Amino acid sequence: MSDIDKLRDKIDKITFDILKLLKERNDTAMEIGNLKNHLGLGVTNEQRENQIRTKVIALCKDIGLDEKTGLVALNFLLNESIKVQSTNKQTHLSVFLKAKEMERKGKKIIHMEVGEPDFFPPKSVKTALSEVYDMGYTKYGESKGMADFREALASHVTKKFGVKVGPQNILVSPGARFSVFLAISTLLSPGNEIIVIEPAWPAYRDNALNSGIKVRTIHTSIETRWEPDIEDIKNTITPNTKMIVLNYPNNPTGKILPEKLLDQIMEIVKKNDLYVLSDEIYASYVYKTWKSILSYEYAKSIVTQSFSKSHAMTGFRIGYAIVAPDIVDRMARLQALALTNVSEPIQYVAMKALESDTTDNTKAIKSRLEVVVRRAREMGLEFIEPDGAMYIFAHVRKPQFDSIEFTNKLLDYGVAIAPGEGFGNYQGFVRISACQPEETLNQGMQIIEEAMRKEK
Ligand code: PMP
Repeated sequence: MSDIDKLRDKIDKITFDILKLLKERNDTAMEIGNLKNHLGLGVTNEQRENQIRTKVIALCKDIGLDEKTGLVALNFLLNESIKVQSTNKQTHLSVFLKAKEMERKGKKIIHMEVGEPDFFPPKSVKTALSEVYDMGYTKYGESKGMADFREALASHVTKKFGVKVGPQNILVSPGARFSVFLAISTLLSPGNEIIVIEPAWPAYRDNALNSGIKVRTIHTSIETRWEPDIEDIKNTITPNTKMIVLNYPNNPTGKILPEKLLDQIMEIVKKNDLYVLSDEIYASYVYKTWKSILSYEYAKSIVTQSFSKSHAMTGFRIGYAIVAPDIVDRMARLQALALTNVSEPIQYVAMKALESDTTDNTKAIKSRLEVVVRRAREMGLEFIEPDGAMYIFAHVRKPQFDSIEFTNKLLDYGVAIAPGEGFGNYQGFVRISACQPEETLNQGMQIIEEAMRKEK
C-alpha cells in the first residue's frame, strides 16, 4: 500500500466515524425533541445553543482548529437537530390546509387564520386579464421581470416611499415569498448565520434551514411591546452573521418599531456589514408613522413588496424585491434556474393593478382589525394593539393553554385561527386575522369566546 493510499484509508475511516457519530447525535436530538414535545417546550433554545457554542470555541482553541470552521460545523449540527425535532410543526398553513379539507367535506369554516383579504382585486385587473391574450403576452420573458413593469414599479416605489429607485433596482418574483427565498439562498452560504426577530413569519427560518444557514433568534415579548433589545442583537452577532431580517409592520404582531430603535438597528447592521432583509409587504396597512428601510439608502438592503395584501391578489402570485443592481443579478440567476421567468400575463395584470387606488382596502382592513381588537379586549385576551398589518397576536391567559390543541379543536366549532408556535416559542399565543367582513369577524370572535370557555 502506498503512503497516499494509507492516508486515504485513514481519511475514509475518519469520515465514516463522523457519519456514525452524526447518526448517534441525530438520534439523541430526536429523543430530546420528544421530551421537549412532552414538556410543551419549543424546538429552538438560544441559551442552550450559546452554552454549546462557548464550549466549542474553547475546544477549538485547545485542539488548534480554526474557530470559524468549528462554528460553521456546529451550525450544521445544530440545524440537523432542529430538522429532526421539527417534524410535526404546526403553522397557520397547517391549520389552513386542515380547514380546507374540512370544507371539502361540507363543514362551514370562518377563516381567521390566514392573511388573505376576502375582497376582490381592483377592477383594472379584470380588464387586464381579458387583454393579455390579444396583447401577445404568451412567450418566455426576462428573468428579472418585464422591462415596462419594472419601470412602472420603480416609479411607484419612488413616489410611495420618497426614495429614488430605477428599474435596475427591481426584481419581479412570484410573490414576496419567492423574493425572500432568492435573497436567503443566493446571498448567504451554508454555515452563515441569519438573525430573525421573533415572533416571525415562519418562512424566514424555514428558508434558512433549507439552505443550511443557522438562524439566531432574538426573542421579543408583550412585556417589551415586541421591541428587540439592542444589546441582545449586538451580542448575537458573530463573524458568521451575514443578515438580519426585519418585518415591520410585523406579521403576526402588527408592530411597527419606533424610529429611534430602527435607527439603532440599522447602525449595527452597517457597522457589521450585514445584509438587511426588510419584508415590507404590509406597507399599505399602516395605522401610525412608518418608514421603509429604503429611506436608509443602504446598499446591502433587500426590501420585499407584494400585490398579495395591498391589491388582494394572493392567488396571482406576484411580488417584487427592491435591491442594488448586483443583487438583482444574483437573485435573477437563481430565478432563471428555478422558473425561467415570472408569468408575463400576470406581470401585465399587476402592472395595470398598480394604476388603481387601494386606499379603500386599507380602510376596510383597519376597521375590521378594530372589530377584532374590541372583541379580543372584551374577552380578556392579552395583546398589544397593532400599529399595522391585519392581525392580532394574543396571549391566552389560561393555565396549561395549548394553542395547537385549541386551534385544532376550534376547527370543529367552525373557526380557523393560527397557533402561536408557528411564529416561534409562543405556546400560549394565537394569531387572529382580520380579513373577513365585520359581521363574520364578530361571529368568529363569539365562537372563539365560547370555545375558550368550554375547552380547558
Ligand atoms: N411576508 C410576510 C410577512 C407574509 O405574511 C407573507 C404572506 N402571508 C408573505 C411574505 C408572502 O407574500 P406573497 O403572497 O407575496 O408571497
